[in-house]
Amino acid sequence: MIKGFFRLPHVQNEPIKQYAPNSAERAELQDKYDELWSSERDIPMYINGAPERTGKTERVRPPHDHQHNVGHYHMGDRSHVQAAIDAALKARSQWASMSWEQRASIFLKAADLLAGPYRAEVNAATMIAQSKTAFQTEIDAACELIDFLRFNVKYMAEIYAEQPNSMPGVWNRIEYRPLEGFVFAVTPFNFTAISGNLPASAALMGNVVVWKPSLYQVYSADVVMRVFIEAGLPPGVINMIMTDPAETAQIVLSHPEFAGIHFTGSTAVFKSIWKTIGENIHLYRSYPRIVGETGGKDYVWMHSSADARQVAVALVRGAFEYQGQKCSAASRAYIPQNRWEEVKKELGTMLSDIKMGSPRDFSNFVTAVIHEGAFDKIVSYIEYARQDKDSEIIFGGTYDKSVGYFIEPTVILTRNPKTKTMVEEIFGPVLTIYVYKDEDWETSLDLVNETSEYALTGAIFSKDRYIIEIATNKLVDSAGNFYINDKPTGAVVDQQPFGGARGSGTNDKAGSKLNLLRWVSARSIKETFVPPTDYTYPFMK
Ligand code: NAD
Repeated sequence: MIKGFFRLPHVQNEPIKQYAPNSAERAELQDKYDELWSSERDIPMYINGAPERTGKTERVRPPHDHQHNVGHYHMGDRSHVQAAIDAALKARSQWASMSWEQRASIFLKAADLLAGPYRAEVNAATMIAQSKTAFQTEIDAACELIDFLRFNVKYMAEIYAEQPNSMPGVWNRIEYRPLEGFVFAVTPFNFTAISGNLPASAALMGNVVVWKPSLYQVYSADVVMRVFIEAGLPPGVINMIMTDPAETAQIVLSHPEFAGIHFTGSTAVFKSIWKTIGENIHLYRSYPRIVGETGGKDYVWMHSSADARQVAVALVRGAFEYQGQKCSAASRAYIPQNRWEEVKKELGTMLSDIKMGSPRDFSNFVTAVIHEGAFDKIVSYIEYARQDKDSEIIFGGTYDKSVGYFIEPTVILTRNPKTKTMVEEIFGPVLTIYVYKDEDWETSLDLVNETSEYALTGAIFSKDRYIIEIATNKLVDSAGNFYINDKPTGAVVDQQPFGGARGSGTNDKAGSKLNLLRWVSARSIKETFVPPTDYTYPFMK
């Protein structure tokens, strides 16, 4: 029973720790990294709140040292998918009727656990098994996940507070019910924050969840799941399973109680999931909510009025941080002829300075890509450019997978603005640049708009306000997150709600109220205090 309209604790973005030399946070993180590096973790699935071990295990190997072993996870089969669905449905009634401030407390506590006692562990796990540098890890596994958990609670309270008007004699109310059934969360390898947020946001709104993380992110997902349990998440509310992705989808998407999917990953997988849902639509009790944030081919466009060094920094950070494995990473750029030599010089200076290697060495800016399949795919694009008569590799272009999956930051210069590396998502440290004639600046914007199937992020650089306005208007449909004089990566929860359109997703904006609205089904309630006792109306007299 709720006995108060409770005011939430004040919520603000989690301050980013800097890990400077001799700082306490740096020493703590390095110690935790070394501890995890020299031990072997045994990672179970979590079904109905209990660890589930099958004995059928897969090794966890750091991408930057793929012969090293930091543990193993237990792989489940069809029966575990079914068990996870059953556990979720069993938990539903009690969880859905739990008062909102109890749910809020669980996720606020999880945020505080991540901000404090678990910060070094979730960061070290992400550094080791996803090969992120200390800073890239801190802004993801710690700060962004903490922000998601805290701000989602604020958004939930705002949604609940949105109530209709009532005329005298009547009380109208809206109840934001969870979906009827269970939600399927499917998460990518590249952000620990996304992996925690997709199940948690649906659960916060009263839903029960079957969560299948990427099999390349299990090591840090395990830390997140243990934090949820320690924060008091009741058994069955979020069930984390490691099972064959396609088989899992096939079982989940043919279940009558499947109520929605919260997906982040590649466009091809999301389209196949949507197709299956369409084919199975007659099986479901309700029309499922379909939320998916998918691929990108994100651009940087420079006008001749812009500063060359600022553009070069945006390109180096935007294209090569986390080895270009951000959905928002800059991977195509458009530079005017009269500024190209300056930009190229700045790029060359910065790239010659960049170090690549293990994230344990904090001076490295770039580490390894996630796995051998990704390595081979990225390399195939570099080799394509090497033999393409319109393209030339002007920086980088080397790679080596003998110890870890290392690919040097690579810049391709092309004369063909529609060459394969300008169009397709590569998801690695590869940037293709097209130099346009200065007088063609306006038509070059059309090129930016029409070149790829995606519309996730994009950035323009100019000091001329007329140009900024024209570019902003012309590129209105080309990106869900649009940046003026800034790199196209690094969206912050509650500041730049994130998501793209066209082939990049349903644009349901993680890190905003819009996303949480997808996980509720409103019920309008009208209560009349004194019901009429005469069926006739005055006009009948
Ligand atoms: P992925 O598509 O390979 O995998 C994503 C998830 O889908 C994983 O959990 C995977 O196990 C699962 N999966 C794979 N095949 C499946 C199938 N046949 N049926 C059902 N599920 C299946 O993507 P990834 O390599 O983990 O992540 C990289 C991709 O994610 C890139 O395309 C990137 O742009 C995108 N991404 C987008 C955003 C965004 O917000 N738009 C954020 C992060 C990543």
